[in-house]
Amino acid sequence: MEHSSFNFRPNDLFLIAGPCAVESESQMRAILTDSHRPTLIRGGIHKMRTNAKSFQGLGDEGIALVKKMKKEIPFDFVTEVTDVRQIESLAEISSAFQVGARNMYNYELLKELSRYNRPVILKRAFSATVAEWLGSAEYLFNLGEKNIILCERGVRSFDNKLRNLLDLGSVIYLKKNTPFKVVVDPSHAMGLTPYVIDAALAAVAAGADGLLVEIHPEPACALSDGQQALNLQQFGELVSKLKKLAPVFEKELRM
Ligand code: PEP
Ligand code: MN
Repeated sequence: MEHSSFNFRPNDLFLIAGPCAVESESQMRAILTDSHRPTLIRGGIHKMRTNAKSFQGLGDEGIALVKKMKKEIPFDFVTEVTDVRQIESLAEISSAFQVGARNMYNYELLKELSRYNRPVILKRAFSATVAEWLGSAEYLFNLGEKNIILCERGVRSFDNKLRNLLDLGSVIYLKKNTPFKVVVDPSHAMGLTPYVIDAALAAVAAGADGLLVEIHPEPACALSDGQQALNLQQFGELVSKLKKLAPVFEKELRM
């Protein structure tokens, strides 16, 4: 059971970054050899796309690819589990599981995940109240509070200028009233690359313990969510800004 990288200290600001979806060896190698890349790498293997004809993820081929890359370059991997039947195979490559917005209400999946000794990053559903989100977190109770990580990724609102409405109020509330780690995903919240860095910085000011950010070596060629990915240079900018901002909030950037 390897999830040592998720043993955060109270003042850590942790960064999880990687592509929306694992696509190819060259894509993963470009990210893994980038000088700014964090130890915690995200990447979708099974994607839950709104359109059934969209890229659904590499599945087993993606698992094999991540295994191969891990032998070459050590990293901790975080990926979304979209179905209970995937847990065992994904456990072989993941230090933590992600439950996506579309599955926050999938209580059977949450119950099953609560039996595994692995941290879970629980994303907020599109229109979930904070109370419903915490209700879902209850299903993970067995994991222990330090292994339950809530992820604010924006909610539906009356406004469609941006992909979602980044609810930083929830972050402030959760940090004051619950024992859980809270991370913010500025990529899905904003939905467009030019806004991601500023939203990430705002999340730190709101008290987030960490960030989950989509990056891609060539966003224009991404098979999913390229419009919101930071390229590696932009990711470097984010990292240097976070290094300056973290101490202002008495945090230390953990990469
Ligand atoms: C993701 O992180 O790739 C994702 C699908 O996010 P969400 O579940 O928040 O839509
Ligand atoms: Mn995505």
